[in-house]
Amino acid sequence: MAEVKTPMSSKDQKHSPFESMLARFHAAADIINLDQRFRDVLSAPERTMIVNLPVKLDDGTTRVFEGYRVIHSTVMGPSKGGIRFAPFVDLDEVKALAGWMTFKCALVGLPYGGAKGGITLNPKVRSEDELERITRAYTRALKDVFGEDSDIPAPDMGTNNRVMAWIFHEYSRIFGYTPGVVTGKPLHLGGSKGRVPATGWGVMLTTMKAIERLGWKPSELRVAVQGFGNVGSWAAKLLQDQGVKVVAVSDHTGGVYSDEGLNVRELVRYVKGNGSLAGYSNASSITNAELLTMDLDILIPAAIENVINPSNANDVKAKLIVEGANGPISSEADSIIQEKGILIIPDILANAGGVTVSYFEWVQNRRGHYYSEEEIREKAAPIMSDAFDRVWDKREKHGCTMRLAAYIEAIERLATGIDLEGNF
Ligand code: NAD
Repeated sequence: MAEVKTPMSSKDQKHSPFESMLARFHAAADIINLDQRFRDVLSAPERTMIVNLPVKLDDGTTRVFEGYRVIHSTVMGPSKGGIRFAPFVDLDEVKALAGWMTFKCALVGLPYGGAKGGITLNPKVRSEDELERITRAYTRALKDVFGEDSDIPAPDMGTNNRVMAWIFHEYSRIFGYTPGVVTGKPLHLGGSKGRVPATGWGVMLTTMKAIERLGWKPSELRVAVQGFGNVGSWAAKLLQDQGVKVVAVSDHTGGVYSDEGLNVRELVRYVKGNGSLAGYSNASSITNAELLTMDLDILIPAAIENVINPSNANDVKAKLIVEGANGPISSEADSIIQEKGILIIPDILANAGGVTVSYFEWVQNRRGHYYSEEEIREKAAPIMSDAFDRVWDKREKHGCTMRLAAYIEAIERLATGIDLEGNF
C-alpha cells in the first residue's frame, strides 16, 4: 500500500504552487518583453521523476512510498535543491519548488540550476530506522540522477542533516567517497560551519536591509514568525539579537504571543524537548490564522505555501512581509497585498541564505579545505546584500514589486545563459 497523501490544511486545492510560480514568472517576463523561446524553456521542468520505494516498516509490513525529483533547469550549472518529507508533498508542489530554486540561484549568482525532491510521508510518525531505510531507498532509486556535477540535494521541510548524512553515505557506498553530492550534512561528515542557521540568517539579513531602506528603527518594530522550524526559529532568534521585538511565533500545533516580546531562546529549548510549541505556558496562545493577521510591523511566514491567499490577504496588517518559506503568498493574493501598500521581500531573495552557504559547503568538499563560521559569513553576506541591492534597484527602474524585480533579475541572467549556450 502506498503512503496516503494528506492534503495540506492551508493548501487550498485552487492554489497550485506551480501555477503560482508560473504566474509570477510570466508577469515578470511581460515587463521585459521576454522572447517566447526563453519563456518556453523556463516554464517547463527539464526532467520530472517519480519513484516508488518499497520499504520494510518496523512492524514487518512493507509500504510503498512515492518520491519525486524534479530538475527544473541546468542552464546555470548542476541542479541544486532540497528534499522535503511531508504528508502533503505532490508533484505539483515539487515542480514549483524546483522552479523557485532555478530563479533563486540565478538571482543570487550561484553556478547552479534548480531542482527539488520530496517523499510523501509524515516524518513525525516514522521511526528513525524507517526514515533511514526510506532515505537510502530514495538515494538508490535516484543514484544516476544525483551527482556533485549533476544534481545536488539539500535539506528542506521535514529533513535535516541526519537525512543528508544517509544520502551521502548511501551514494558513497555505490560510487566511492563523494561528500559534494549533497549539502546540509553534519559537520563531522563534511558539512559547513554556519549551514544550519544559514537560511534564517539570510532572512534576518534581508529584513535588516529592508528596515534600513525604509528608514525604520529596529527597536521600535514588532515581528511575528509563522513556522518555528529551522528557518523560522533562527530568523526569530537572530532578529531578536538585532533588537527587533518578536511578539508571536507558531508551528503546526498553533502559536504563542506576548506583547512584551517572547523569549525566543527559551522557546527553542522548549520545542527541542517537547517536539512542538504545544503546551508552552509562559505566553498567551494564538492561532496561525490570528498570527497572520495581527497588527504588526513585520510578518515572516516561514512554514508552508499559500498561507496568505485571497481568503485572508485583505486582513493582513503587517507593513513588511519577508518570505522565509517558499511560496507562502499565493499569486492571487499578491495583488491584494500590493494594493494595501505592503512591501514583500520575496522568497527567492529572502531565503537564499541557505543555498548560498550550501554552495560554500560544496566548494569546501571539492577542495578539501574548510572555512571557519566567520569566513563563511564574510563570503555569504556580500552575496546576499548585493542581491538585495540589485533587486531594490530593479524595482525602482521598472516601478514594479520586489517580487517581480527579483524574477526579472533572475530571468535576465538565465536568458543570457540560454542565449550563450546557443542550442536552438
Ligand atoms: P522545518 O521542517 O524545519 O520547519 C517547518 C516549520 O513549519 C515547523 O515549525 C512546523 O511545525 C511548521 N508548520 C508546518 N505546517 C504548518 C502549518 N500548516 N501552519 C503553521 N506552521 C506549520 O522546515 P524549514 O527547513 O524551516 O522550512 C520552512 C520553509 O522554508 C519551507 O517553505 C522551506 O521550503 C523553506 N526553506 C527552507 C530552507 C532550509 O535551508 N531549511 C531553505 C530555503 C527555504
